[in-house]
Amino acid sequence: MEHPENDELYKGLKVNKGISDAPTVNPYLKKRAQRKHYTPAEFVEGIRKGDITILSQAVTLVESSLYEHQQTAQEIIEKCLPHAGNAVRIGITGVPGAGKSTSIDAFGMHLLGQGRKLAVLAIDPSSERTKGSILGDKTRMEELSRQQNAFIRPSPSAGSLGGVARKTRETIVLCEAAGFDSIFVETVGVGQSETAVHSMVDFFLLIQLAGTGDELQGIKRGIMEMADGIIINKADGDNVEKAKLAAAQFKNALHLFPPADSGWTPQVLTYSGYYNLGIKEIWDMVDAYVAFTRKNGFFDHKRNEQAKYWMYESINEALRESFYHNPAVENELTRTEHKVLHNEISSFVAAKQMMDLFLENIRKN
Ligand code: GDP
Repeated sequence: MEHPENDELYKGLKVNKGISDAPTVNPYLKKRAQRKHYTPAEFVEGIRKGDITILSQAVTLVESSLYEHQQTAQEIIEKCLPHAGNAVRIGITGVPGAGKSTSIDAFGMHLLGQGRKLAVLAIDPSSERTKGSILGDKTRMEELSRQQNAFIRPSPSAGSLGGVARKTRETIVLCEAAGFDSIFVETVGVGQSETAVHSMVDFFLLIQLAGTGDELQGIKRGIMEMADGIIINKADGDNVEKAKLAAAQFKNALHLFPPADSGWTPQVLTYSGYYNLGIKEIWDMVDAYVAFTRKNGFFDHKRNEQAKYWMYESINEALRESFYHNPAVENELTRTEHKVLHNEISSFVAAKQMMDLFLENIRKN
């Protein structure tokens, strides 16, 4: 029966005359349907061959919040892990306007010129796909985005910082398995995201500007402390002297920090991303850092520490997810919040009640 609602049983319902099937299939849907569904093994095979389309599709699964996508993504990541770890991972941060995209374009072209393969990823918890300008957006890196040996991926869309960062961390694994030997992780130098980036890169580059007269103001001490290299951009034209002055100020400020665990003394360089000046010196510095820390064991030590950090981060994230998505908790949370807001119970009692409810609920299931 085509329209069961016409049955006597459903007398109350009136069904308008119509067609039971659309005469043609929406061509967009048809195209989507043709998109091949790969098994995890096929995904891994494609990634290992360096197939960018397959890599992109796998990254989409990593970024998806659908349960079945996550299952497949985790399987792919696990299979890629033995082939990952061979890239040099570089964090790049700077406030909007510091010249991150211009610089990444220039740095990237320099690395590609050396025969390297580069993936540019980003962490920007505030961005949403629909809101235009996003870190790592291809259109911001004009030249690089046209290169075959460059893979550019915008930040996973908005979510908790931990969630966004974990997705980028997992994408690094896929990119490395696909043969990318250099990874950039870009972020905006204003908030917490630097700590997240720092926990997944080998070298942390801070892009600064000169000429504002208050170079050292407004930079969080924590961010400067994380930097393995501070690079002053826009050292061109009238700005060269100002940039040099700023570099001297930064060098002085760095002396006040305790020596880094790596044994490496952070360097300060000036350059121009736009006019391609001083780029080689920056990469000589990064290469020197890698050689130095590989020799003294810090490179591997840091990666081990990061692996540990991500284990706990993933546990925390999973716990948080299962708590907030627990049906019993979801049901009760707003009511309990209301009670707290009206001074009916204290925050601590409320938290305890919610935790008890959660634990009781998972014990039952
Ligand atoms: P982002 O917001 O950090 O990604 O910064 P952009 O790369 O978009 O750069 C911001 C502005 O600074 C743009 O107008 C660039 O053209 C300009 N800019 C970037 N690098 C340089 C540079 O080395 N020299 C000069 N003079 N301008 C630059």
